Amino acid sequence: MLTFDFHSPVEEISLPLYAEKQVRVFMKRDDLIHPYISGNKWRKLKYTLNQAKQEQRTLLVTFGGAWSNHLLATACAGAKFGFQTYAFVRGERIDNPVLKLCQIFGMQLEFVDRQRYKNKEDLFHERFGNDQHAYFIDEGGYGKQALIGCSEIIDELADHYDHIFCACGTGTTAAGLLEGIHQRGLQTTLHAVPVLKGGEFLREEINKLTKRADDNLQLHSTYHAGGYAKTTPALIQFINEFTQQTGILLEPTYTGKLLFAVHDLLKKNEIPAHTKILILHTGGLTGLLGMLDKF
Ligand SMILES: *Cc1c(COP(=O)(O)O)cnc(C)c1O
Repeated sequence: MLTFDFHSPVEEISLPLYAEKQVRVFMKRDDLIHPYISGNKWRKLKYTLNQAKQEQRTLLVTFGGAWSNHLLATACAGAKFGFQTYAFVRGERIDNPVLKLCQIFGMQLEFVDRQRYKNKEDLFHERFGNDQHAYFIDEGGYGKQALIGCSEIIDELADHYDHIFCACGTGTTAAGLLEGIHQRGLQTTLHAVPVLKGGEFLREEINKLTKRADDNLQLHSTYHAGGYAKTTPALIQFINEFTQQTGILLEPTYTGKLLFAVHDLLKKNEIPAHTKILILHTGGLTGLLGMLDKF
């Protein structure tokens, strides 16, 4: 096993809105797991890297966009656990702080146009097909092993919560949480907030990953603010206010939209009073570096 096992803390957040609606709101701070192997990206990588170690692979090969939290997490985790790292980056060659950090951690980058990027298996086989040491990791860390890591979030909870909220990109984190909730036989509703447009498809995606009944899954697919990595002035203003009132930093791509959704649902009385709510902070704060001009 990899020797890095950090249980993220849970803290209660007190805001006038929560008192008014008579709910208690807690946050699991997966953003505090590691500054660069952040949040759910560590959860998703943990068992994947174990598998790679067991198979005696020494090179992690993965995929992502130019601001990908997953690329940075893989670069840093690779350095930490003794792997070389290589990434296919979507789109034309550019320079930005996240890619620079990836390189400082030793990751080798290859930029590929959007057409070629679509077929990741082909890219891997073209370049590394004969390399016994290379290990394929899908975009965003997507995969079965990732689910196990995410389900462990539930194992770490000491208290019971009526509602758990998470942001949703590929749905792997939500699927892992649902798996954990089922495994422990909890009466908890999971609320997944897609951060991209047309997020209704994620219900099917989550079902496919867990193969569980989804009675206790609620998808809130109207909080994407125009699409993936898109923002609105209202979202930015919300992030500023929340961060100033709590000292907890959010970014606009995932966690900002998540908290915006929770507050909106509370204001609309869609979450009953006298319940306990847990919000998962999935990290990814380096994403802010690409969006500072919005603030
Ligand atoms: C990648 C990411 C997500 C999305 O996780 P999925 O498992 O793909 O749904 C959520 N939050 C942050 C901060 C992320 O970096």
